[in-house]
Amino acid sequence: MDYIVLDMEWNQPWPGSPSAKKVLPVQIRGEIIQIGAVRLTEGGEVADEFQVMIRPKYYRRLNRRVSKLTGIKESRLKEEGIAFPDAMEQFRGWCGGEVIFLTWGFDDIGILRENLRLFQLEEDWTQKWYNAQMIFNAQTDGSNSQKALKTAMEIFQIQATRPAHDALGDAYHTALICAKLDLQKGIQEYDEALKSHDNGFHGAELPGCISRKVFYDLADKHAALAAMTGPENLCPVCGRQMLGSRWFAQPGHRYMDLATCAEHGKFLIRVRLSDQPDGKVRVSRLTYEATSEAAEAYARRAEKADPEERRPTSRRRRRRRSASAEVRSNQE
Ligand SMILES: [Zn+2]
Repeated sequence: MDYIVLDMEWNQPWPGSPSAKKVLPVQIRGEIIQIGAVRLTEGGEVADEFQVMIRPKYYRRLNRRVSKLTGIKESRLKEEGIAFPDAMEQFRGWCGGEVIFLTWGFDDIGILRENLRLFQLEEDWTQKWYNAQMIFNAQTDGSNSQKALKTAMEIFQIQATRPAHDALGDAYHTALICAKLDLQKGIQEYDEALKSHDNGFHGAELPGCISRKVFYDLADKHAALAAMTGPENLCPVCGRQMLGSRWFAQPGHRYMDLATCAEHGKFLIRVRLSDQPDGKVRVSRLTYEATSEAAEAYARRAEKADPEERRPTSRRRRRRRSASAEVRSNQE
């Protein structure tokens, strides 16, 4: 079975623009404007290439950041771009029968599936898919970080011969990396690599982080936070349940809480919630030392919150109430 190394570029609405306020029947992170793919044979030979430009239907104005990054101009999309369903037909035709998709990162396949759903096209043909980053990590330094394509190329001493942030260019370079990996072994051990990635550090944690764990299939936000305060709130030293104090919301569906183990003292817990495709909630949970910078941030946040809550009516609420009273008197 052939491997298809896939890379895509997608357009996003400019924040605050009319497009950004559009409610689409299927939520998408971006509308695909370019697909590049390279066939890799089972024997690791880089074979033929595919590229197609797609004229966006929903986010028609090309985001200038996307344009700058990819070098794609709106005029080129208008000239060369075809409709997404036609592009998919071409792409599937080129792929041939059953194939295994490889991408650099987790985003591309998810965005492809969202776009297929939005256009009410089949998506079952994208089932066999692996993030080559995970295989690369497992077969190189064993780290859990998601390395940039450029970094991986440097590690394998691959010279860039194609433009970066061009779908075909990136797919080609990814294929050269994949050709140096033991893909069969990587796929066999993929679940393990994924678990290690999930529960490992990703390089984005603040200093003082002592553990990271991912939980799946929580019913909703409340159930997720309840589990994180209750049965899953375990001391990183002795494993016994800790006592939570109070969750503070942070941007990006993040929450933090200061938990206490009767024996080992305080730990800062930071969680990030995200929606699974089935509507359930995934939680990524980080535990920090109480002396860490992150824990200090919690203390500052708690200090700021308390006086506000002791005050019976905040100024803002009073103001809102008087405004509505005005409306009422006008109506009378
Ligand atoms: Zn303990």
